[in-house]
Amino acid sequence: MSSSRRYTVMTAIPYVNGRPHVGHALELVQADVLARHRRQCGDEVRFQTGTDDNALKNVQGAEAEGITPQEYVARVAERFAGLREPLDLSFDDFINTSSDPRHRPGVDKLWAACAARGDFYKKAYSGLYCVGCERFYTADELTPDGHCEEHGTAPEPVEESNWFFRLSRYQDALEELISSDRLRIEPATRKREVLSFIRAGLEDFSVSRSVARARGWGIPVPGDPGQVIYVWYDALANYITAPGYGTDDPQFTYWWDESERVHVIGKGIIRFHAVYWPAMLLSAGVSLPGTIFVHEYLTAGGEKISKSAGNAEDPADLATRYGTDALRWWMLCEVARFGDTDYTAPRLVNRANEDLANNLGNFVNRTASMIHRYRNGVVPSSEAGTTEVAALRQVRSGPSLGPCHHSRGVTGEGLRPAVGARNRRSARRCRSGSPPRDAARNRSRRSGGMRATSRVRFLRLFQPHRCRSAPASTRGSPGWARSAATSSPIGVSVSAYSGKAS
Ligand SMILES: [Zn+2]
Repeated sequence: MSSSRRYTVMTAIPYVNGRPHVGHALELVQADVLARHRRQCGDEVRFQTGTDDNALKNVQGAEAEGITPQEYVARVAERFAGLREPLDLSFDDFINTSSDPRHRPGVDKLWAACAARGDFYKKAYSGLYCVGCERFYTADELTPDGHCEEHGTAPEPVEESNWFFRLSRYQDALEELISSDRLRIEPATRKREVLSFIRAGLEDFSVSRSVARARGWGIPVPGDPGQVIYVWYDALANYITAPGYGTDDPQFTYWWDESERVHVIGKGIIRFHAVYWPAMLLSAGVSLPGTIFVHEYLTAGGEKISKSAGNAEDPADLATRYGTDALRWWMLCEVARFGDTDYTAPRLVNRANEDLANNLGNFVNRTASMIHRYRNGVVPSSEAGTTEVAALRQVRSGPSLGPCHHSRGVTGEGLRPAVGARNRRSARRCRSGSPPRDAARNRSRRSGGMRATSRVRFLRLFQPHRCRSAPASTRGSPGWARSAATSSPIGVSVSAYSGKAS
């Protein structure tokens, strides 16, 4: 391995039977901040996302529209890939599980490896199946009226013969991995939740479906054409098929075995990622992920976001209406680490007005004008900063940050108050209007300029769009300082926002 660290961050791949909503955007933006953070630290980064095409829901969606599943998933997946620009995402790889030539050979290889280990057997099974979740439920896992908690629908009774994976074999290994943090689950409440699920006893799970029930859509079970591979087994494999597991690509060693491997997922699919997935990898003899960051959900107007509730706002539309930076900033500042967060347009607008237009916009403009007035438009080179700068540096270089640490810990508790305080101080300086008269004041302005540049550089993680012209090092260019002073680098105008919020 080279001396720089390698970092692979992966979002879950959503099934694509509908338009993306703000909940999908949240996960993508969180993973994007992690990826940008590591790139800024000098690491080699691979940020992967994609779509889960082989779900039964997609077949139903295609049937409802009278088109083929291929046509259906291609069209809907395009909308997810198309979030790249409006959300300013920096992913390096986007995998479609139905059409990407890397995927099926990898799933076949993973299946063969688990089979060779003796971890599959076939048995007749009956249970309650939620098509939305693509999983069986026991009666005690459902709401009192017998509905799936995720979807609010009654699972359908299913009876068929399927292949099962010997999950029970891996109970002790999984408990040890997670309790020792060799497989780290953040936050700790989610780690405890997974451990108590494991300690209650793991049961083998079904990893295939009859071709008839899957309507022939999906990857056939090797050697058993009457069955297709369970969509979760297929979908989870995307994390290794994209870097080249099935094609023996040397990239697989480079980006999987020799990289720090991090998942960013929603709380609803934690069992698949923290129990099933590592067990599948243990069985196949493949390296495990190192960290799983679990985020909570967004609601909209107090309701669960769903197509039927009519509150599933398209993130691309929101980015057009309020600006990419305002949307990203809100998600990273206001989304809680514990418990769901309610998305409303006024909340987004108020946060953008206060932080971006008022504090940050004014601060950067004043700093830039001081750099022009006292430093001929050149940001002075770095010098030992204040404790404020040291704290930001520490946060920046921390290798173990999760999305939530990043968002609330950094923007909420570090950057926002720091920028607010600097803005008030720079306003007082500008009002006094006097040039620096002594060395102490001179130094203060120099370090002020350095701190501003340092913060703008850091802010790129959250606000890549508007920070694009800012310098990468603390030695600035006159060009950047001039443009910062004459345009509005953060560019969020109070009137534009308040007009649209009402
Ligand atoms: Zn469900």
